[in-house]
Amino acid sequence: MAAKIISGKEISQQIREELKKEVQELKEKHGLTPGLVTILVGENPASVSYVTAKQRTAHDLGFYSIQDNQPEDITEEALLSLIDQYNKDPKIHGILVQLPLPKHIDEKKIIHAIDPRKDVDGFHPVNVGKMVIGEPGFLPCTPHGILVLLDRAGVEVSGAEVVVVGRSNIVGKPVAILLMQKRKPVGNATVTVCHTATKDVTFHTKRADILIVAAGRPKVITGDMVKEGVVVIDVGVNRIGTTPEGKAILCGDVDFDSVKEKAAAITPVPGGVGPMTITMLMKNTVEAAKSWAGLPSEVG
Ligand code: NAP
Repeated sequence: MAAKIISGKEISQQIREELKKEVQELKEKHGLTPGLVTILVGENPASVSYVTAKQRTAHDLGFYSIQDNQPEDITEEALLSLIDQYNKDPKIHGILVQLPLPKHIDEKKIIHAIDPRKDVDGFHPVNVGKMVIGEPGFLPCTPHGILVLLDRAGVEVSGAEVVVVGRSNIVGKPVAILLMQKRKPVGNATVTVCHTATKDVTFHTKRADILIVAAGRPKVITGDMVKEGVVVIDVGVNRIGTTPEGKAILCGDVDFDSVKEKAAAITPVPGGVGPMTITMLMKNTVEAAKSWAGLPSEVG
């Protein structure tokens, strides 16, 4: 069976067009411009490319956006005071601090300092708690993007056996929590989570109707580990080399070539989950702006 390709790039593009229209309307009808600041500490090349893509998208959608670059040796105190400044800035509705931060800064302290009503990454404990109990709040962008991908690709999730490989706080754990919830349009699945202490990963992956892989290991899931007709969401982004022109060569956590022969549908890397993550950040910022302006919003 040749798998259908679930294109995050195309679905992302559709959602960005919808958001662009919504931003235009918010400006015209309510004089409201969604505002996003992305804070980058240091010059880690992967982080630079992520924030550049986020800023470019924010700009394309018509946001008020600020790229705030800070030196690698900024003190924790100075970074906390910068966050306090943006917490108080009425033009800013979303604050994103690009992770990872240098070792001398406590990431937890920084995330906790962001006003939960501006936490468009969905990492603040207040938003994590709301997600767990199913209250409106900011959903973390990558898991949220996966839900939207499944929905727009027309995958039946209710009642499905979902297997998640990976249990990180930013991907595996939240996506498992969201998919097990009695929520619409995507949820109500029976979810199994695998990690490095799982005795027999293949036993679980072979049972999956929907397999979500966020292991951070290149091509760790191979064709012999999945059943015919599975839907595969590959979250992994692994840099496995560089082209002669100096561009990174990427691959997922799934061995695309062998798995696509058995899967009903699969996301590619790149062009799958990656673009959705940025798009959901934009969506969260629009919802944040509406919420601050007292308009109906998905984040409450
Ligand atoms: P992470 O924090 O390194 O977590 C990896 C998880 O996978 C851990 O829970 C680990 O288990 C588990 N694991 C690793 N190898 C395994 C194996 N062979 N079998 C079963 N479980 C295994 O990674 P992450 O932050 O979730 O990211 C995962 C991948 O997604 C990375 O490639 C990352 O670059 C990518 N990513 C992409 C996006 C995007 O927008 N496309 C966003 C975020 C992350 P233990 O807990 O036991 O160690």
